Amino acid sequence: MKAVQFTGHGGREVIEYGDVPDPTPDRDEVLVDVKAGALNHLDVWTRRGLPGLDLEMPHVPGSDAAGVVLEVGEDVTRFGPGDRVALSAGVSCGECEFCRDGEYSMCVNYHVIGEHVPGVHGEMAAIPEDNLVEVPQGVEWETAAAAPLVFQTAWRMLLNRGDLQAGEKVLVLGASGGVGHAAVQIADYAGAEVYATASSEEKLRYAEAVGADHVVDYEAEDFAERVRELTDKRGVDMVVDHVGEATYPDSLRSLAKGGRVVTCGATTGPNPGAGLNRIFWNQLSVIGSTMANPGEVDDVLELVWDGTFEPRIRDVLPMSETARAHEMLEDREGFGKVVVVPDSEYDRA
Ligand code: ZN
Repeated sequence: MKAVQFTGHGGREVIEYGDVPDPTPDRDEVLVDVKAGALNHLDVWTRRGLPGLDLEMPHVPGSDAAGVVLEVGEDVTRFGPGDRVALSAGVSCGECEFCRDGEYSMCVNYHVIGEHVPGVHGEMAAIPEDNLVEVPQGVEWETAAAAPLVFQTAWRMLLNRGDLQAGEKVLVLGASGGVGHAAVQIADYAGAEVYATASSEEKLRYAEAVGADHVVDYEAEDFAERVRELTDKRGVDMVVDHVGEATYPDSLRSLAKGGRVVTCGATTGPNPGAGLNRIFWNQLSVIGSTMANPGEVDDVLELVWDGTFEPRIRDVLPMSETARAHEMLEDREGFGKVVVVPDSEYDRA
């Protein structure tokens, strides 16, 4: 079959689309005919290489996909041929103290399909049963592929780790990205007053369309200063920051006394200044979050499937143009999710 592959760590030139052996499902795995996949910043980091990430090359990437079940391993009980499914990429051991507490995304052996083990951006993928969710009839493949990773991440970050309450003020940075646009929708749904940053007039209008009450162009204005103005110098209760080094000091400046920054990533780098003086004097909290527990995944996807939340599709490309998809993410072009489909499907559409 054909699949996307990284021939090594490096620039976009390491991305190829070519032949790999057909996957065969293990006893607990499901073989899926992939209809669509979606890109995440994680794909870019995995391609560039991360400290401690030791991958066998070539590596098939992809942490989001949806499709139809072709066959199942003998121990699989929840799915059968013809079922419509989507991937939820977090893998936990089920045995460590955190798993036994139900905190699967804190598993000491936690890993992510596509990042630490081969991913799903090919014509087919063999996926553990525990990592599949059912996709109702009527949900588009692009939607089913685009939603799981970013919506589960934003859901846990805001509602569980961040404990966002109705009426609170929340600032979402980078509202045009995958996690950002999910966070705006979830914060709005939770009854928060939503402030959002983006880098162009078009992206700001888009942030408003998905639920932002106030928008700030971070390229034209000092966003922390603007947020303090908009809140009569008070600041916001929560900042959702997946940007990292470039924004973290200003995230702290945007907070009201007792406020919190929640982070699920650092696309501009992981080592900002600590700002401890601001943290203790204003009694701030910095809270990390990664992926989500299976129950949280079910809760948020229910709201995607029924149309409450909508993953916006920035573009749909054939998998052979995955390098272009990486370019769109790296250059922050457009808003929402970049979807890729196997070339054979793309040609049919
Ligand atoms: Zn575990």
